[in-house]
Amino acid sequence: MDQIEEIRSKIDLVQFVSEFLPLKKAGRNFKANCPFHNEKTPSFMVSPERQIWHCFGCNLGGDVFGFLMEMERMEFGEALRVLAKRAGITLQTYRPSQGEAEKEKIFEINHLASEFFHYLLLSHEIGKRALNYILQRGIAKNSLEQFKIGYSPPRWEELQKFLVRKKGYKAEELEKAGLVIPNTKYKIQDTRYYDRFRDRLMFPLSDHRGNIVGFAGRLLDPEVKEAKYVNTPETPVYHKSELLYPLQITKEDIKKEGRAVVVEGELDAISSYQAGIKSVVAIKGSALTELQSRLLKRFTENLILSLDSDAAGDMAARRGIETADSLGLNIKVVVLEKYKDPDEAAQKEPEYLKEQIEKAENVYDFYINSAFKRFNGRTAEEKKKIGQEVVPVLAKIEDEIVKDVYVKKLADRLGVNEESVILQIEKLKTKTSPVRGSTAEPVVQKQRRDILEEYYLALLFQTKKVIVLLDKEEKDLFYSPINLKLIEALTVYLSQAKKFSSQFFFKTLPAELKEAFDKLYLIDFGEKIEDEEWAEKERREIRTQLKITKVKEELQAACRKLKGEKAEDKEGKIREQIRFLTQELRKLELL
Ligand SMILES: [Zn+2]
Repeated sequence: MDQIEEIRSKIDLVQFVSEFLPLKKAGRNFKANCPFHNEKTPSFMVSPERQIWHCFGCNLGGDVFGFLMEMERMEFGEALRVLAKRAGITLQTYRPSQGEAEKEKIFEINHLASEFFHYLLLSHEIGKRALNYILQRGIAKNSLEQFKIGYSPPRWEELQKFLVRKKGYKAEELEKAGLVIPNTKYKIQDTRYYDRFRDRLMFPLSDHRGNIVGFAGRLLDPEVKEAKYVNTPETPVYHKSELLYPLQITKEDIKKEGRAVVVEGELDAISSYQAGIKSVVAIKGSALTELQSRLLKRFTENLILSLDSDAAGDMAARRGIETADSLGLNIKVVVLEKYKDPDEAAQKEPEYLKEQIEKAENVYDFYINSAFKRFNGRTAEEKKKIGQEVVPVLAKIEDEIVKDVYVKKLADRLGVNEESVILQIEKLKTKTSPVRGSTAEPVVQKQRRDILEEYYLALLFQTKKVIVLLDKEEKDLFYSPINLKLIEALTVYLSQAKKFSSQFFFKTLPAELKEAFDKLYLIDFGEKIEDEEWAEKERREIRTQLKITKVKEELQAACRKLKGEKAEDKEGKIREQIRFLTQELRKLELL
């Protein structure tokens, strides 16, 4: 057994996948909403027997390696290392790819930089002013430690001196990590590179696995006319649109509490965390990105947005909410009347903040309330403005019952007929295309016959009744070349093996059949599959359907023939066949 196979055999795929997604038992298999495309009914299946997964919506599938690579967007080598560690196997030959090695180096450099900044803030004279500032700002000492907050000194080369001279890294490597900038601007300085972060409070930014991917540097003095925040630019490991701060610390709390409180900046997150709101994450700016929503969805389906800006008026925030909504996340919005942001509320009145989070409004209530707050809604003109803002939101609600509830609410508050609101929604629909952007569910079109064949085979394989397929009459039911090949392979296999074993049979299959075979194990029959009586009844039913389809096709073919060769059918052979097939069909339909 090679090492890859050894790893595969030591990790249970169901257990592994369920650490990322809530898997539900479905007969012999497990299912969930697919994490790789948008859907509201599960088509992502995992087979414990075959140790494979497949999504019938987007057609992705594979083993534990493929799952991890897809899920964490890892290279194969990276996934190999992670899974080897988990399986307790020491890899004999392992060489990271160049891209992987580069990422590792950036993590290392960032880690050392964070230690350097952290040391300067907590233990060095140069960080005194910054330390006083942050403590005064209400961030407790143990938070500074937990979040590894640091300070970058007001000098041009301090970090470089440490990392290049003391630790032996190259300045070019620091540039890749985004920590230094090539010196083209400041001619006075006699240096090739200068430090990007100077005289700033430093917040290390980690991915959810705990690798430091970059930094946010915040000004101490709000009066200085520089950008309040300087962040690491996009690097091979830092992608602004993916980051959720500090998910590596709060992800377990998010899972436990079944919700994530989303705030706008690092300090909002830390203050909230300190105040006991542990299931918190911060985004940059006011808009949740699709990648962030997808990442959060791994930990919870419930988001509570507590943003600084008015999310209803802010187009970017609104788009973020729409994306999260279309991914099936439940969204509530916190309204902080008394304070400007969660940071201030957490510092001054943590109980109030907690209360407001508990009282968070459903996002649609929030849209309606927010519009009325801004436009009053007394005159026709004001009512029109409210409609213009809220109707497009309601038009996008997918659940008709929910939509109906909010149509009523809006009509009530505007003092108009429900019909007028519905009419506005209809108008909007005819204007916009029904397809929902690029993330619409892919539709896999298949012939009914193929579906029946697959279903029939799946039933036989999953209930281990494959012996039936040796029967010639059974074989004749099939039409699809791939299914016929599979049955052929099975016939060969069963002529040698005493008993059917999916594991051993799989190994005999050529590559082109392996995938088709695996898919049969993933078709979902629900709990019923355990019921032998049901399975037998279902088998007979499907068999009849397959026969009907077959006879119908033959009938159609015969009719076409008759039309084309009218003169030739002198002996009435074709007519005879048609009569026979029609009778056959009638008999079958009576079954
Ligand atoms: Zn999918």
